[in-house]
Amino acid sequence: MKVDYLIIGSGLTGAVIARLLADAGREVMVVDRRNHVGGNVHDHAHISGIRIHTYGPHYFRTSSERIWDFVNRFDTFYKYEAALLSDIDSELVQWPIAGSYIRRTIGVDWKPEFTGNPRNLEEAALSLMPRRIYEKFVKEYNEKQWGVSANQLNADLCTRFDIRYDDEPRLKPLAKYQGIPSSGYANLMLNMLDKIPVLVNFDYLKNKNLISAKKAIIFTGPIDEFFDYDLGKLKYRGQKREHIYLPDSAGFQQPTGQVNNPTHAGGPHIRTLEWKHMMPVEIALKISGTVLTKEIPFTPDDSGDYEYPFPDATNTKLYDRYRTRADSLEKVYICGRLGEYRYYDMDQAIARAALLSGNLLACADLLQ
Ligand SMILES: Cc1cc2nc3c(=O)[nH]c(=O)nc-3n(C[C@H](O)[C@H](O)[C@H](O)COP(=O)(O)OP(=O)(O)OC[C@H]3O[C@@H](n4cnc5c(N)ncnc54)[C@H](O)[C@@H]3O)c2cc1C
Repeated sequence: MKVDYLIIGSGLTGAVIARLLADAGREVMVVDRRNHVGGNVHDHAHISGIRIHTYGPHYFRTSSERIWDFVNRFDTFYKYEAALLSDIDSELVQWPIAGSYIRRTIGVDWKPEFTGNPRNLEEAALSLMPRRIYEKFVKEYNEKQWGVSANQLNADLCTRFDIRYDDEPRLKPLAKYQGIPSSGYANLMLNMLDKIPVLVNFDYLKNKNLISAKKAIIFTGPIDEFFDYDLGKLKYRGQKREHIYLPDSAGFQQPTGQVNNPTHAGGPHIRTLEWKHMMPVEIALKISGTVLTKEIPFTPDDSGDYEYPFPDATNTKLYDRYRTRADSLEKVYICGRLGEYRYYDMDQAIARAALLSGNLLACADLLQ
């Protein structure tokens, strides 16, 4: 079979490109090796009626009017602004760290232990906060998350959080629009792909001979797998998810949807999710029972379990070598979180996909 544009992967990157090309009147087809569309933002309903984000909690947020308008074409959103807690010495306290917590436990008279250009996460964190705070909130959390000691991790991981000297509890207070699709992410993705031919349970790399493209192939799977790992395997971290259903639980088990468990002593999981919190409150209150999910980081071998690209120089260099090869291919575009070996928030993934589809359309016009 031959189509104009063949899109491998029905996650946000593939689906947005498919939608925008189809809207422009182009012939597209999407294939995905999973048994559902939507990639990692997929969600499903538990028997209790509680909606679970299959591959980990997804909080949608953006400050872009255009991205917000775009996603609202496919569903309405209810407001949800994530606010997280961390279990510290058996007390649930705010994450990101509140200035008042530092003042209460350390005082006001402290100076950063590290100054200068940090070479790793530990040095970067010690330039921002007292050692005792770093050890309680950051060090072991990251050691569990990445499976190596904090002084082996890139300093720029520290840019993913801040200290809230004003005690602002929301995870992303600056994002203008925040929410969760009213009928769920799975439905939003189905709507995005409406009237576009989609084949699920189809692994493109194992079936290349069955399908090809006249104009372009857009591959949103792992870049190293595309090249059959011939330069070596990129390292990822994934999370095993242990679900606990408490059918008789009245109300909620924890005060927020996400409670972090940042110490080794607290067990191997890094966080516990209570999904009911992420539903509209009027629906959540009508559901009896609750579902808790513990997330335990591990290093996956199976590319279907890849979640977070590993933040170190060795893997960045290996990716760069694959990227050079990818960029030299004709009519093949390798993109998305797995194709670019980068963590992208959903709005960033949408923006990049829109950019690529714009380039594809402009390119096709030029060559006509
Ligand atoms: C644990 C976790 C939590 C997150 N939470 C948030 C959040 O709260 N807020 C936020 O904004 N972002 C969040 N994200 C980021 C979000 O998941 C990504 O932005 C989004 O998934 C990127 O979409 P994608 O299409 O690039 O990749 P994916 O969604 O991974 O899609 C790639 C698709 O390609 C398919 N595929 C791969 N190889 C093949 C092949 N050979 N043949 C056929 N199909 C193939 C896969 O099956 C998959 O469906 C989170 C990410 C993770 C890992």
